[in-house]
Amino acid sequence: MRAQPTASHYVNGRYIDDEQGAPLPVIYPATGETIAMLRSATPNVLELAVEAARAAQPAWARLKPVERGRILRRAADILRARNADLARIETLDTGKAIQETLVADAPSAADCLEYFGGAVATYNGEAVDLGGPFAYTRREALGVCAGIGAWNYPIQIAGWKSAPALAMGNAMVFKPSENTPLSALALAEIYSEAGLPDGLFNVVQGYGDVGAGLVGHDVVAKVSVTGSVPTGRKVLSLAGSKMKHATMELGGKSPLIVFDDADIENAIGGAMLGNFYSTGQICSNGTRVFVQSGIHDRFVDRLIERTKKIRIGDPLDPETQMGPLVSKAQHDKVVGYIGIGKQDGAVLACGGNVPSLQGFDGGFFVEPTVFTGVTDNMRIAREEIFGPVLTVIPFTTEEDAIAKANDVDYGLAGYVWTGDAGRAHRVAQAIEAGMVWVNSENVRHLPTPFGGMKSSGIGRDGGDYSFDFYMETKNIAIGLGQHKVPKLGA
Ligand code: NAD
Repeated sequence: MRAQPTASHYVNGRYIDDEQGAPLPVIYPATGETIAMLRSATPNVLELAVEAARAAQPAWARLKPVERGRILRRAADILRARNADLARIETLDTGKAIQETLVADAPSAADCLEYFGGAVATYNGEAVDLGGPFAYTRREALGVCAGIGAWNYPIQIAGWKSAPALAMGNAMVFKPSENTPLSALALAEIYSEAGLPDGLFNVVQGYGDVGAGLVGHDVVAKVSVTGSVPTGRKVLSLAGSKMKHATMELGGKSPLIVFDDADIENAIGGAMLGNFYSTGQICSNGTRVFVQSGIHDRFVDRLIERTKKIRIGDPLDPETQMGPLVSKAQHDKVVGYIGIGKQDGAVLACGGNVPSLQGFDGGFFVEPTVFTGVTDNMRIAREEIFGPVLTVIPFTTEEDAIAKANDVDYGLAGYVWTGDAGRAHRVAQAIEAGMVWVNSENVRHLPTPFGGMKSSGIGRDGGDYSFDFYMETKNIAIGLGQHKVPKLGA
């Protein structure tokens, strides 16, 4: 098998397996071929991972922040040096085109390790003058944190969760998605090679039940999940019942609003990127494309012309721009939504088929698809599809656009394309979403907060927000000897 790792799990600085674990086949989405066979973690493996993390964490938290940061920065360098191999693993695991995984996956994890490895040395508490006596705050590590990942950006998510957690002195047990278990193991090896003490970053494989086992484990103090809204609800209620810290990075159905005065060619590029990059499997995609009536037809014609030219096929070919969906289940879901769109009366303007690609019969491909004539009450305009399906919805005025944009349960992201600076700010401020990009596509800037409103999640990642994710703030109040204590009963 062409991507078989040494074993299924990485615990306490080494690979382990447990023959009792349920089989977990790893499928190459371009062909349907099994490329590795792993096992889901048994309760025994889970216990070993949590115990290794618990034992290693206190000494790690006592190191100088700059020393912890140095190890993360060394790991970032190794990630960059191995980028070509890691991109290949990520493409085999996810099916994403290699031209994407070479620039967007391990490199993004490396940036994150480098950023938090540097930032941690500058992160302090505060001193508060109380008029003589004073108080100071300490930012203290939480202990053992659990990270649970989705399948669209496996090594990036593992990096985004582990880097700030480790930088602040925590240990982590990470469970990748059952669909994409490979690259987190590679990251664990790299951390060890960079000098991370054993037990601080552990990887356990498995389905939702293993994730739930982690969330419910008494030693785990914090849970950070990237996944769908239904999973987020389950995790949040279990974590809540045990009074644990929990952050939720969940799904979205984000508006992308294009006004008459926008740079149309750029806006079309942004819309295409926000629907077809990573085969449309990005949480913050702008999948509801609202186009003002004056430019609607021109926008649609050019969008279709460009969409038809997207090169779909072998993800390992550097010329390929779009690969398959991650799994058969996701493929069937996306094909199902294309059927629903047609049934509900939307106009299938381009794509919508399963392409036949020589040598890739067993793959999970769907053509990049554009629906026009969509109304805001159709299911394809309201539900997260998580595939290459773009819906164009016409609007008339600024007020009309804002009302339509906010009429969903999600609130992860928003995009505004306009040449009018005042309108750009007005609309950006009115959109109910955690992040809004103006005249630009979805770019992650590490020092800025990333996260959603409404059903799209709780908490923000990025910059100091990530540190808050993984720390408790303790207030220590100091008397200076003159404090009069009431002499009760004296
Ligand atoms: P999913 O919810 O099916 O699974 C996410 C992870 O949660 C997996 O590792 C899964 O095994 C685990 N899990 C499932 N049930 C669990 C339970 N009861 N307890 C604990 N863990 C459990 O999501 P997915 O299909 O892997 O990923 C796609 C979803 O992720 C989309 O909705 C997408 O929008 C979202 N996503 C969000 C962000 C973000 O930052 N907001 C980023 C990427 C993906």
